[in-house]
Amino acid sequence: MIDVLRLINMIKKASIVETKMGYKNAAVFGGFSDFVVSSILNICAILENTMPPEGLAEIRRVSGLMKKYTDNGPKERENIVKDTMHVVSKQVKSAAAVPKKVTPGMGLQFLKSVGPKRASLLNRLGINTVDDLLYHFPRRYEDRSRLKKFHELQDGDTDTVMGTVVGCQEIRPRRGLTITKAAVHDGSSVGYAVWFNQPYVKKQLAQGTELLVTGKVEHKYGNVQITVADFETSDKEDQVHSGRIVPVYPATEGLQARTLRSIMKTAVDRYVNEQEEFLPTSLIKKYGFFILPQALTNIHFPEKMKDVEEARRRLVFEELFILQLGVGLQKVTQLEEKGIRHKKNMDLMEMFLQSLPFPLTGAQHVVLNEIYSDMEDSKTMNRLLQGDVGSGKTVVAVSALVKTVESGYQGAMMAPTEILAEQHFQGLSRLLQPLGIKVALLTGSLSKKEKEEVIADTGSGRVDIVVGTHAVIQEEVVFQKLGLAVTDEQHRFGVKQRAKLREKGYNPDVLVMTATPIPRTLALTVYGDLDISVLDELPPGRRPIKTYWISSKMKPRVYNFIREQVKDGKQVYYVCPLVEESEKIDVSAAVELAETLQTKVFPDLTVGLLHGRLKQEAKETVMNEFKKGTANILVATTVVEVGVDVPNATMIVIEDADRFGLAQLHQLRGRVGRGAHQSYCILVANPSTEEGKSRLRVMQSTCDGFVIAEEDLKLRGPGEFFGTKQSGLPDLKIADIIRDVKILQTAREEALNLIRQDPGLQRPEHAKLRKKVIDKFKGVGNYIKIS
Ligand code: ADP
Ligand code: MG
Repeated sequence: MIDVLRLINMIKKASIVETKMGYKNAAVFGGFSDFVVSSILNICAILENTMPPEGLAEIRRVSGLMKKYTDNGPKERENIVKDTMHVVSKQVKSAAAVPKKVTPGMGLQFLKSVGPKRASLLNRLGINTVDDLLYHFPRRYEDRSRLKKFHELQDGDTDTVMGTVVGCQEIRPRRGLTITKAAVHDGSSVGYAVWFNQPYVKKQLAQGTELLVTGKVEHKYGNVQITVADFETSDKEDQVHSGRIVPVYPATEGLQARTLRSIMKTAVDRYVNEQEEFLPTSLIKKYGFFILPQALTNIHFPEKMKDVEEARRRLVFEELFILQLGVGLQKVTQLEEKGIRHKKNMDLMEMFLQSLPFPLTGAQHVVLNEIYSDMEDSKTMNRLLQGDVGSGKTVVAVSALVKTVESGYQGAMMAPTEILAEQHFQGLSRLLQPLGIKVALLTGSLSKKEKEEVIADTGSGRVDIVVGTHAVIQEEVVFQKLGLAVTDEQHRFGVKQRAKLREKGYNPDVLVMTATPIPRTLALTVYGDLDISVLDELPPGRRPIKTYWISSKMKPRVYNFIREQVKDGKQVYYVCPLVEESEKIDVSAAVELAETLQTKVFPDLTVGLLHGRLKQEAKETVMNEFKKGTANILVATTVVEVGVDVPNATMIVIEDADRFGLAQLHQLRGRVGRGAHQSYCILVANPSTEEGKSRLRVMQSTCDGFVIAEEDLKLRGPGEFFGTKQSGLPDLKIADIIRDVKILQTAREEALNLIRQDPGLQRPEHAKLRKKVIDKFKGVGNYIKIS
């Protein structure tokens, strides 16, 4: 780069001299034109790999003109010199301006206009290095290359206008309402920009300020006005913020969109050419992708929107390709490891199935066979069992656990909450004790002594199956011979925990279960390292749950309905919302609600209370009372959300239902409808947002978890739907796995292809790519074994 800088400066100096001397090709000994041509040749040689092809072509074009310099008269020569200077400096400016070697970890405070304060604001956005900054993409773009004038605006449209502030006024028509109104001249007429209750904007609106306002247009009192949704003050002749397509970045507190844009421009200009290409050249050619510097330049500061699409296509591919490589590499590692070969056709298994009070459904049979054949194979099982709430996943898991025990191994089953672990423990004990299988419970709230005992029994092999919470994956827990590890409600656990459980044995088989249905292509991404089984059939006799959304005014009628259910011998859940930030307050709200219901509304009935802050023993008592039917109504926080199974409960009331996500509502509703009786779900809510309303409508219209998951994806977007916590995958910065499903498939194929050719990505030409994959997965527990 230093060489390029030197070369440019020499061309520049020579051009100045040549101009002064009247374009006689005499500025340099040996001829000005020959000198420039050879300098350009050198520049091209250095920049060949970092400059976009168009840039190189441009430079070569002027080099061609310069070769024929002496064929022209003075006027043309002048033009050629100017053209050359312009093109050369434009195309290599960014590369040449790099002051020193940039490392990916280079701190942001070295960037122009980023001091420690801004650096720390950026850090809050997860941007710590220049690399991070370049990969912080615009949320949208605004075409400011041809802005409208006030007189062109239509009522009801949202538009952007630029102009000069010619006056500003503050009006207080009544208490609690402040209107700030700026008169803006757009070069041909005056219009008004209006802010409601933001008196502080006034100080930015001094006369003469260049202003860019975006908002809804309205003609009022014979004038046109814009109700400002977004605005920027700008400098005239500004090349970064106006007169072009400008990127709009998600703003953060203390860092305005405009500031971030300036910082980004500096970063792009100076560092984009330092970004080394890491995708295989063959792929770039095959798909006609932009090379990396070109893609990054165009995603931030495009000249036309078409370029954004192209840049995006490359960056989306890059992101999904890395993701698929990471996932694929893990699968390869697993295949290489020899696993446990479980026994075939067993007596105990048969006895267990015979002892069930019901025959298995067809879907359960299919899925069990898939699991058995995996377990009997010497390759390690890594299977995801997906089935809607109430589809009967537990029985499948228990059958598999019986198989491992009968083959001479131990089993483990991990659940996300103590309540669910306890329930599984009781269920398993009841079913398996008669078969002589020893089951133990291990949770955080056991006493120290109890814990030590379970851990000792697990280590010695006295216990066959350990059921528990996270406590099972604690370091002290050692299995004598772990054969199968089951994780219930997988969406509550990360990949890290899953991996930890697996590490408790020597390549045990792994079964993870989830009620979150995911479209298959997406599942391949999120759980790409797993094989998938689906329980797509509910046990017979289930009736769809009737769901009603009512306003809180109608609660008295709900109370009557509850009474009817109880009179009929049924039981009711009454859920109050829990906001994680302040569990304490929520718990006290739950306590209060239970008390009101017990003393004021249902003095003649028994109301139980269940929340997360109860001691293990208290939880057990409450749950047992409810299971036995002693309690008619169970007031609960969302701790009952997952897994709880009391078939006699036929009604669930959810207060402030609009405060829950769709997936959560579906899980909660899944607590009822577990038997043959008609069940009801009452959503009490007065939602204030449109999104809240649509969630409730979706709940009313369907009980199908698959439909709900798709709606959820639509409403929340995949970013939220697959939070890192659930999926254990790196966050996606640009790809949208729904919209980009085609690219996803291509990326997957190419990733598998590459892994086949170069398992472990060991070849030198894949070194940069391998590093990218490792870096990307590091943050989420680095479960990829490539070194
Ligand atoms: P989930 O898939 O939500 O974990 P569970 O395993 O808790 O569902 O099962 C829900 C209910 O259905 C339980 O009460 C269980 O005993 C019952 N169940 C499971 N399989 C069958 C079946 N084949 N026939 C009838 N009832 C079943
Ligand atoms: Mg379950």
